[in-house]
Amino acid sequence: MSETEARLAMCEIGQRMYARQLCAANDGNLSCRLDAQRVLCSPTLMCKGLMSPEDLCIVDLEGNQLSGCRPRTSEILLHLAVYRHRPDVRAVVHSHAPHATAFAICRQAVPMGIMPEADVFLHFVPVAPYDRPGTQQFADTILPYVQQTDVLLLANHGVVSYGPSLERAYWLTEILDAYCRIVILGRQVGSIMELDAEQRAALRALRSEWQPPSS
Ligand SMILES: [Zn+2]
Repeated sequence: MSETEARLAMCEIGQRMYARQLCAANDGNLSCRLDAQRVLCSPTLMCKGLMSPEDLCIVDLEGNQLSGCRPRTSEILLHLAVYRHRPDVRAVVHSHAPHATAFAICRQAVPMGIMPEADVFLHFVPVAPYDRPGTQQFADTILPYVQQTDVLLLANHGVVSYGPSLERAYWLTEILDAYCRIVILGRQVGSIMELDAEQRAALRALRSEWQPPSS
């Protein structure tokens, strides 16, 4: 993907996140690798639904801003921690998606064994410990889990998901938030009936066979 294509894709995903109410006002941030030294990211204090390609910033792998007329997102260290520890990852999406963040503020890992798609696509959604946003300590809270999953909760904060493209990174946040909404609604309707061990084993087999689309 060229830099021009990456800028357009980031703006389009920002619009979809805002339209789905996954990021209110200026919440959330996105990034993607441009090459071995440069990362394209969203600016700070800007609505993700209103970004234009020229609003985006380019930083190096230490978070120093290389270009862009607006200041980079204050959460870039979180994104860079993912890139540093996952060479396969090309894009990161962070949001305060409300239904998933409901689990994050309760510091509850998202329950699995309830719906097949969640077990196959999400598999394991742990909660990283709390720290003050914007700091290196905060970015490092994901390290115990970053190799084990592509989507996780940040305690009392939100969600971070990542993958081989912006579309795939965003996809996990959208799937997670829709699933969390169903679980919350189900708990209000009655007692959620969990899948049994055999049914879950069949889903694990399906997950191991499933090849995600590359874009
Ligand atoms: Zn945040």
